[in-house]
Amino acid sequence: MQTKGNISIHAQNIMPVIKRWLYSDKDIFIRELVSNGCDAITKLKMIKGDMDEELKVTVTVDPQAGELRFTDNGIGMTHEEVEKYINQVAFSSAEEFLKNYTGDDKGGIIGHFGLGFYSAFMAADKVTIDTLSFQEGASPVLWESEDGMEFSMQEGGRKERGTTITLHILEEEKEFLSASRVLEVLNRYCGYMATPIYLQDLSPKEEKPAHDHDCDCEECHDHEEAKEESPKPVNDTHPLWLKNPKDCTEEEYKETYRKLFHTFDDPLFWVHLNVDYPFNLKGILYFPRIKKDFGGQEGQIKLFNRQVFVADNIKEVIPEFLMLLKGAIDCPDLPLNVSRSFLQNDGYVKKLSAHITKKVADKLNGLFNTERKQYETYWDDIHPFVKYGCIRDQKFYDLVKGSLLLKSTAGEYFTLEEYKARNEGKAEKKIYYTTEQNRQASAVSLYVNKGIDVIVMDTLIDMNFMSFMEFGGGNDGLQFVRVDADVSGLTEDTEEGKDIDQAQMEKLFRDALNNQELTVKLEALSDKDMPVMLLEDEQMRRYKEMSAMYGQSFDFPARYTLVLNRACETVRGLAAMEDEETASLLCRQLFDLARLSGRPLEANDLKDFIARSNQLIALLARK
Ligand code: ADP
Ligand code: MG
Repeated sequence: MQTKGNISIHAQNIMPVIKRWLYSDKDIFIRELVSNGCDAITKLKMIKGDMDEELKVTVTVDPQAGELRFTDNGIGMTHEEVEKYINQVAFSSAEEFLKNYTGDDKGGIIGHFGLGFYSAFMAADKVTIDTLSFQEGASPVLWESEDGMEFSMQEGGRKERGTTITLHILEEEKEFLSASRVLEVLNRYCGYMATPIYLQDLSPKEEKPAHDHDCDCEECHDHEEAKEESPKPVNDTHPLWLKNPKDCTEEEYKETYRKLFHTFDDPLFWVHLNVDYPFNLKGILYFPRIKKDFGGQEGQIKLFNRQVFVADNIKEVIPEFLMLLKGAIDCPDLPLNVSRSFLQNDGYVKKLSAHITKKVADKLNGLFNTERKQYETYWDDIHPFVKYGCIRDQKFYDLVKGSLLLKSTAGEYFTLEEYKARNEGKAEKKIYYTTEQNRQASAVSLYVNKGIDVIVMDTLIDMNFMSFMEFGGGNDGLQFVRVDADVSGLTEDTEEGKDIDQAQMEKLFRDALNNQELTVKLEALSDKDMPVMLLEDEQMRRYKEMSAMYGQSFDFPARYTLVLNRACETVRGLAAMEDEETASLLCRQLFDLARLSGRPLEANDLKDFIARSNQLIALLARK
């Protein structure tokens, strides 16, 4: 007996919409059909317990017939079940889908809806279901539809328990008749499903890349036979993150990382998430090597739902700053069938996200406390991420603040407290840093020679991090000072040159440099060979750099202070000099030398500097 009918009155309206919106990620139909097969097998196992035969899903690529088939030996469907689950129920989820999609956020999410089966029509101009239920005495059913709107249903001829869904592939979707293309999708979405999945390629032999020659030698023959005898599932049915961390080896963690991300790199270290209560969360988060200036670099956290890949980088679940990590997370309880805006406000998701943050912080603290040396070797790679996390998430900062390190120009690592202790009495509440160790070498050495540690702050995030530590980090009055912004730590208590008139020297330099804005200050620096130092106001410089970072370029008046070292003989000589012309020459030369220790001179400045140097040498030579 054959029945005919309309799947649903709503179908006419809904199918075109499904097709259009699903289109953006049409690969998903493969995931949906495979996961239906897996579900059918899981259900059978639940009813029957362990079985002798292998329960599996086979995806068959048959280019000659123009078909892609999904076969499982699971529970199968009776006539009534096809009626109920295929002809009716799907549309309640389709309606839900439409209801949820009143916003603009129409991309990407579709696969999260239980529309599964009907996604087949994105790639097919005819879909058949050939199924036999496990129930005793059930008769096979053959269901057929060309558009997902009208169907026919009759008794089928199937003898084995299970279901085959056959898609006659649309002309414009022919790519899905290529085994390599299908394999790619299977790897992406089904790579860790719990049921073995096999890919069978029925394309004519000469089209198979592995057999591209007509050789009949024994080796090839054996090879072929071996292939046919023991095909391997395309998926890993027992992903490492579902195992107990106690049973996982270091090599296994690395291998999983390489496999997940198709890389030869090793991760630095990882956090294995394994929670059953109060929520179910399994996963591994890897710390990759993060390079300097990580702007634009994104990690990848793959989200699974019961071993079915759902999406990468779901911002609602993974705290944003953890997006630099890589890994896999399996959350079976996550309500993925609803829209993202729902996830955002979901208390459960918030708890999940807080738990992940805490675990990551625990790992860092654990390494810091028990493997300090090892932790230090990681620091160069992970510090941008950790700092970013502190800025983004106060809770994370509170958790890890004791494990934050500062790296000195000598390559040593200190915590904030350690820095303070080491530099007590020398650097009151100040942390001296350099942004470019080479260019600022002369200023750095002034501090280092005085026994003050200078910290390297040379990544993009550091500027933000320092502001955060000063204002948001609860570090009362702490100040980061670049080595060329301050000399307070470098001064010496000496009488030398105390009689030099500051105002007179300022006038001398202002006139020589033709710059009436310049501030000149007399100090006694401990390094007596260093005549002058050019200081740039810390806050002003940071403000300038910040706005440059955000693409604005204000013409800020550079706020420089020229420090004259009254302890240096050159300065005292200059102050006493009577030959005005030579004094002016020396002023300009000294100013340029001070500038040079910060950055190279350019264009005319350089030309003038060289000419003046020659002039000075000539003067000396004449003596
Ligand atoms: P969902 O999987 O979200 O329930 P689908 O549209 O993917 O929605 O499938 C609808 C229903 O059809 C399933 O719940 C299941 O009852 C039935 N079904 C689909 N494919 C199979 C199959 N291969 N074997 C047995 N039942 C199936
Ligand atoms: Mg489904």
